[in-house]
Amino acid sequence: MMESAAAFVNSTFPVPKSLVKHQQHKIFYGNNVCKQLVNRKVFSFQNKSHRTGPITLDTLAQLDQFHEECGVVGIWGIDSASKYAFYGLHALQHRGQEGAGITVVSNGKLYEYKNLGLVTEVFNDDILSELRGSAAIGHNRYSTSGEKNIRNVQPFTVELSGIQVSIAHNGNLTNACKLRRHLELRGSIFNTSSDTEVILHLMATSLLASSSYTGKDPADSLVQRLIDALSRVEGAYSLLLLSPSCLVAVRDPLGFRPLVMGKMKNSAESVIFTSETCVFDLIGAEFVREVDPGEMIVVTGDGLQSLFPFPSQRRKACIFEHIYFARPTSIVFGRSVYMSRFRFGEILAEEAPTEADIVIPVPESGIPAALGYSAASGIPYQPGIMRSHYIGRTFIQPTQNIRDLSVRLKLSAVRSIIENKRLVVVDDSIVRGTTSRKLVRMLRENGAKEVHVRIACPPIIGSCYYGVDTPNTKELISHNMSEDEIRQYIDADSLAFLPLDQLHHFLGEESSSFCDACFSGNYPIRPLPSQDTTQDNIHPKVFQQ
Ligand code: SF4
Repeated sequence: MMESAAAFVNSTFPVPKSLVKHQQHKIFYGNNVCKQLVNRKVFSFQNKSHRTGPITLDTLAQLDQFHEECGVVGIWGIDSASKYAFYGLHALQHRGQEGAGITVVSNGKLYEYKNLGLVTEVFNDDILSELRGSAAIGHNRYSTSGEKNIRNVQPFTVELSGIQVSIAHNGNLTNACKLRRHLELRGSIFNTSSDTEVILHLMATSLLASSSYTGKDPADSLVQRLIDALSRVEGAYSLLLLSPSCLVAVRDPLGFRPLVMGKMKNSAESVIFTSETCVFDLIGAEFVREVDPGEMIVVTGDGLQSLFPFPSQRRKACIFEHIYFARPTSIVFGRSVYMSRFRFGEILAEEAPTEADIVIPVPESGIPAALGYSAASGIPYQPGIMRSHYIGRTFIQPTQNIRDLSVRLKLSAVRSIIENKRLVVVDDSIVRGTTSRKLVRMLRENGAKEVHVRIACPPIIGSCYYGVDTPNTKELISHNMSEDEIRQYIDADSLAFLPLDQLHHFLGEESSSFCDACFSGNYPIRPLPSQDTTQDNIHPKVFQQ
């Protein structure tokens, strides 16, 4: 177990000297920070209910939403791999805006660069030009586990018995706290508060790291360690591992989070892994197939190998990817995200019709469902609410006045569209209800005669433990109130959610292969009481089934 601690304390990976000139950034290698660089001011802001310190307007406006998880991209066999990884991360920016990082293989060594901020803030052409090589992994972070801190920005790069390895993870491990305590008792020293680091420590302490593997193929040794580590974790992982000799993509046996494989159209040797197919559209690659739940794909100079090292289980893909997280242009779990959302709107129109003059979406994730509602009901669609894209990067003090303004700063009503109209307002979800309440008030203040709210997902009654940042269950309005109580709270003339049975009907024979735990309480993996939030945020209905 001491080997694990040593792996982090002694990691000294080379830093391209020319990167030092980028004064606004930090460079991390293992736990070494180039202290000569000028630090950016980093504000403290933790998720869930531990929020402190200055926060952004954009953050305020997002407090009443589920948040994106993380995005990963892996490139093999393409010159300037870091640039493709950069554009891949840019396409996945919606999955995480807290920090970004890229690791490349160059001349048999790993080089890594990462920082807090958006992808375009972290990287520029000079930095990417220094990250030379034909293999890379990249990660966009949204902190579903661990605090907001540059140490938690992935990829994590370490050295295991002389082999450099870097990992990027989308998902959340449900037994990470227990494993971490166990590892710390055995002498492991953690460098981050992220659950992903647990996987590296499990690899470092794997019995398969014993002398029986010394001298064997490094890629084979890493794969054996990774299989051993992942066989001890529970929860969600779509994970990429990069070493000088291999790129590995692996998805947990339940397949909570998406992971797809593609290739460049003009290069049969190239391999690309990523969270969503929208990456392929941007970089001119083509979709090959999904990485199957429980599958591990190992790419080396000898080609590609598919392994299924874990006991097979029924897939439990996250339906919220289709409701809110994924980009509408993506194909996720074999289905078009846009068409799912459009159909949710059509179902709402069939299940919860109303007399109205126009259908308006809450931009932007409510747009496809609003179009679906309009198409099915015959009520004209109008963009009655506009979204500002320019509020996110201003730092402010979180005074009560500003909190009250937060929704208006992000969303503006178009009075000329909504005045004296009966509105159907279509949104993707209601989490705490505070945004919906402010939104309805704003629409009434702008002359709406009636406001009928339609929500393109079922009521959210429980938190997510598999990689999605959700509030404590007690903060979820549908955990605490009936549908009519919520209608009264948000002051709508009528309110309807997508019925859960209709969501199941829409999914058809695949229904049981989707996780819907935040709506149904049927959690595929029971989270341990020590898991990040609190023991009492588990819905009372949840574990009776
Ligand atoms: S609990 Fe909800 S958000 Fe989490 S994986 Fe399941 S469906 Fe997705």
